[in-house]
Amino acid sequence: MANQRSYQFNQMDYPLPSSKRLRGRRAVEQRIRRLRKEPLCRDCLTDGRTTEATVPDHIIPLAKGGTDHDSNIRCLCHKCHVKRTSEQFGHRPRVNIGPDGWPI
Ligand SMILES: [Zn+2]
Repeated sequence: MANQRSYQFNQMDYPLPSSKRLRGRRAVEQRIRRLRKEPLCRDCLTDGRTTEATVPDHIIPLAKGGTDHDSNIRCLCHKCHVKRTSEQFGHRPRVNIGPDGWPI
């Protein structure tokens, strides 16, 4: 039975090393599960705003040795995620430039 075989394959593929980021369908499922668990942006809530979270963010980035465990995840809105990522990797927030050459 094809279904059973793919189920067994998934079981064999588990558990994953903690720092490995999931890919494909399981990554999508994990993302949905995390956003259901924390549906509002954590940073916005801290500032007294209620914003829908759209991105499960790694508190310590995987690239800096963080794990992919739920304990290292906070859900953020897109805007806060961009801001946090900039901070974590030492980039300044991107400024969009209009056709007249001035920041928007
Ligand atoms: Zn936010």
